[in-house]
Amino acid sequence: MFFSYFCSMIQEYQLRLLPEQAFSEEVIARFIADDKGLDVRTINHVRVLKRSVDARQRTIYENLKVRVYINEFPQDEPYEKTEYPFVGDRPRVVVVGEGPGGLFASLRLIELGYCPVVIERGKDVHERKKDLALITKTHKVDGNSNYCFGEGGAGAYSDGKLYTRSKKRGSVAKILNVFCQHGAPTAILADAHPHIGTDKLPRVIENMRNTILKSGGEVHFQTKMTSLLLEADKVVGVEAVRLSDGQQLTFRGPVILATGHSARDIYQYLADSKIEIESKGIAVGVRLEHPAQLIDQIQYHSREGRGKYLPAAEYSFVAQVDGRGVYSFCMCPGGFVIPAATGAGQIVVNGMSPANRGTKWSNSGMVVEVRPEDVGPDDDVLKVMHFQERLEHDCWQQGNMRQTAPAQRMADFVNNRLSYDLPESSYAPGLISSPLHFWLPKQIISRLQEGFKTFGRHARGFLTNEAALIAVETRTSSPVRILRDRETLQHVRLEGLFPCGEGAGYAGGIVSAGIDGERCAEMCAEYLGRK
Ligand SMILES: Cc1cc2nc3c(=O)[nH]c(=O)nc-3n(C[C@H](O)[C@H](O)[C@H](O)COP(=O)(O)OP(=O)(O)OC[C@H]3O[C@@H](n4cnc5c(N)ncnc54)[C@H](O)[C@@H]3O)c2cc1C
Repeated sequence: MFFSYFCSMIQEYQLRLLPEQAFSEEVIARFIADDKGLDVRTINHVRVLKRSVDARQRTIYENLKVRVYINEFPQDEPYEKTEYPFVGDRPRVVVVGEGPGGLFASLRLIELGYCPVVIERGKDVHERKKDLALITKTHKVDGNSNYCFGEGGAGAYSDGKLYTRSKKRGSVAKILNVFCQHGAPTAILADAHPHIGTDKLPRVIENMRNTILKSGGEVHFQTKMTSLLLEADKVVGVEAVRLSDGQQLTFRGPVILATGHSARDIYQYLADSKIEIESKGIAVGVRLEHPAQLIDQIQYHSREGRGKYLPAAEYSFVAQVDGRGVYSFCMCPGGFVIPAATGAGQIVVNGMSPANRGTKWSNSGMVVEVRPEDVGPDDDVLKVMHFQERLEHDCWQQGNMRQTAPAQRMADFVNNRLSYDLPESSYAPGLISSPLHFWLPKQIISRLQEGFKTFGRHARGFLTNEAALIAVETRTSSPVRILRDRETLQHVRLEGLFPCGEGAGYAGGIVSAGIDGERCAEMCAEYLGRK
């Protein structure tokens, strides 16, 4: 005790604690003081560097790596800061789409001394929210402002999950640090499964946009790219239309095309213009919604569920059925199922969660791999996209031509039974009981049924009529790949065009689209440097 009053130092410890010992930095400080024989008053600060929940056994532990400041105060920010110089007078790059791909491309361009000019068909992240509310209220979807289109892209109103299968550790850390610099909680740097939450993400996105503007970049909302500006085999800009007054605009510069997986008009334009693209596999299925309490009970092996100190439980399932993957996708513990269509005459569902993951439900996509050869023998490059469109339209018809989503209880689906009624759901536009086992594509039905039986065997209680399947989940990734060179990331034929992010078929998820955005910006800077 005497020692700790006079000695100042920074120590790192690996700890394995019960959830109630780990839930705040204050509580962790008290534990360390007891454990190491320190006076708690000498611990000025505890910084959690890594945190993961170990729920494999009946007793749940949290594994932590912490940095403890004893008679010291942290001198540094908990995240690495990036400098953004003024680039208003520097060469311009047109960035189409302000999703994670476009945002991170723009910020990286600024770092490298180039001026991003962002054009985005949707509205700013706050205005956009009003159109999302109207989907539930009026059952009408604005084709330019919805859960996929608008500032922040498809990830803005999401769970904000930030984990990725990308192995590029440095690149992942950079993306997370940039998020923190723009207001995301620094816990995302420590958590094994970080997420921001749909209530916090809009502010972070707004701050990122403000960095672009302060650095001299431009952001044009409600401005939709209609075509590329071509000079021989070189892209020198884009043609666009300002949606508020229909004015035609031209933006000049090399183009980072980050329009996401739902910009079907862009895919159609590329196909019509004979710009090299290829069809790509996707995954298709339903959103599965359980009571959150049930998932907590299963995953934490306890009748009490998660209790006061644990986060809403996650799961991840995967199986092979008849040569195709069946798996859970984009799980949203304590979240909502949302209407994610991008136009009239479609139903598409997806999921999002608030930061506290505190709703009564936990949902996840349950999807089956679909390869281009599964949707027809023809060589139409847009055939997977047309398959998505048909399914979304069928679903809308089954939903009485509103955003009311067709749904079925889980065990009823597996047993080919219509559900007489449906469980309470977070899906705000409402559900309608429907025989999904009858009208979904055969290749999806049988594989989902088998997959659910397998998952039910692995997790007792998971296959239950307390859960509902909500149709239809189709926007899991891009149905098209825009072909680009592996080294330069430029389009295989068109110089000056950098297909980027999820829509180009090279990323999936917020972090991976962000990483791809940064890489495209670097390659674009190299291209401009060579000229
Ligand atoms: C509801 C939902 C929840 C999700 N949850 C998560 C999650 O928790 N974690 C995760 O990692 N991923 C999640 N995803 C996936 C993730 O959002 C995407 O992988 C990611 O946003 C892809 O980034 P992107 O920049 O490539 O494309 P997008 O985010 O799709 O952005 C494309 C942008 O381009 C704009 N655009 C399109 N066409 C044009 C045009 N012609 N002119 C101008 N602008 C145009 C669009 O309006 C949009 O803003 C979720 C997706 C959805 C829909």
